[in-house]
Amino acid sequence: MELPFAESYKIKMVESLRRSSQSEREHWIKEAGYNLFNLKSDQVFVDLLTDSGTGAMSDRQWSEMMLGDESYAGASSYYKLKNAIAEITGFGYFLPTHQGRAAENVLFSAMISESDVIPGNAHFDTTKGHIEFRKATAIDCTIDEAFDTSLDHPFKGNLDLAKLEAVYQRYPLNRIPMVIITVTCNTSGGQPVSMQNIRDVSALSKRYGVKVVFDAARFAENAYFIKTREAGFESTSILDIVKEMFSYGDAMTMSSKKDAIVNMGGFIGFREEELFRKASVFNIMFEGFITYGGMSGRDMNALAQGLYEGTCFDYLETRIKQVAYLGSLLRDAGIPVQYPFGGHAIFVDAKRFLPQLPREQYVAQTLAVELYLEGGVRGVEIGTIMADRDPITRENRYPELEMVRLAIPRRTYTDNHMKYVAACLINVWNRRHNITKGYVITSEAPILRHFTVSLEKAK
Ligand SMILES: *Cc1c(COP(=O)(O)O)cnc(C)c1O
Repeated sequence: MELPFAESYKIKMVESLRRSSQSEREHWIKEAGYNLFNLKSDQVFVDLLTDSGTGAMSDRQWSEMMLGDESYAGASSYYKLKNAIAEITGFGYFLPTHQGRAAENVLFSAMISESDVIPGNAHFDTTKGHIEFRKATAIDCTIDEAFDTSLDHPFKGNLDLAKLEAVYQRYPLNRIPMVIITVTCNTSGGQPVSMQNIRDVSALSKRYGVKVVFDAARFAENAYFIKTREAGFESTSILDIVKEMFSYGDAMTMSSKKDAIVNMGGFIGFREEELFRKASVFNIMFEGFITYGGMSGRDMNALAQGLYEGTCFDYLETRIKQVAYLGSLLRDAGIPVQYPFGGHAIFVDAKRFLPQLPREQYVAQTLAVELYLEGGVRGVEIGTIMADRDPITRENRYPELEMVRLAIPRRTYTDNHMKYVAACLINVWNRRHNITKGYVITSEAPILRHFTVSLEKAK
């Protein structure tokens, strides 16, 4: 008998989960303005809102917490983290920040000015927010294949080189401070970028004198996909793949809450001292002194340890196979999901799930609410609400894809939880024809509205 796959870790500490009834959930979600971000965590049974900061730290990471050095300047924890970053990413200069968007805020303060354009592969929402906040424009250059959720393509996070070159030719180069490569590409479905594409983007950008910045939150998952999908990398180690990926970049921003498996933290990596110095000024203003930047010593220690664990092949295989397990259960039931499955999440194609709903009634949000009502599973809308209004016309921006993202926290849930989630969604699928009304917005913030939006049922 062939031995089945099993997790590469065991559980040392557990946390209780509370089940709820359908009528409780109906009451709670109404009170929450049909915004899943407004729910209390104990109103949720399986929480797939995000994989950000929700992972389980290891015994070694918790041990590192005890060794944290809380000195204001020059703490040993800072040097531990600096060494880990240099060893794993190859970036010799770094600034700690409290999370990924803070890294964006600091780096963009040093690099982006009003009316700049920043091409990239489906910029993440906070990245886009920080670009638009500076009255600059993000231009999506993702390959068209990314927007067909049923099309099998191993690297749907890739940038389209023709689209990218068109940006370089159309705008003055002094208005293009960087191209951003997001690995993996969260917004298009946790889809990886191939090494070949990274090489090509880097070579093209060098020719035009444009800097390459990695939005690197899930760089290790991206490396796993390169190893398992891209010809020539089968026997290259994850660490060597990571090193090569980053060798094509001038800088990186990191949300450590993702692939570094900590609950809070971030950093910026730099190739050159000059940019590091320029950004240091903003780090001190926004985050804290350059040897802690919004993190305590113990958090930097846990992060350093997490970077090593997050780049272990066995861990990555366990993680990505669990995500694929959920994806397969849904796909086998005929539910339209982004394929191939992403690294950190399964994306359900809400437009194909609920084709009867008008887009003005927020199709993906409607599906996310139904999934919560069904079994207390919290996913998140990646659709029209998250796409925000156009900053100039203030009209809704209707993205190509309306998705419900089921993000899987790292080392947190078991495969039985995945089975439970799949059963909930299959129940919704079986009653999908009865879902004939969506939602309308009753109040919203001017930017990043999805976090605080309130809705009511459409009449
Ligand atoms: C999470 C994330 C960010 C922002 O990081 P935070 O730690 O949430 O501030 C930026 N880019 C990508 C791709 C992300 O996934």
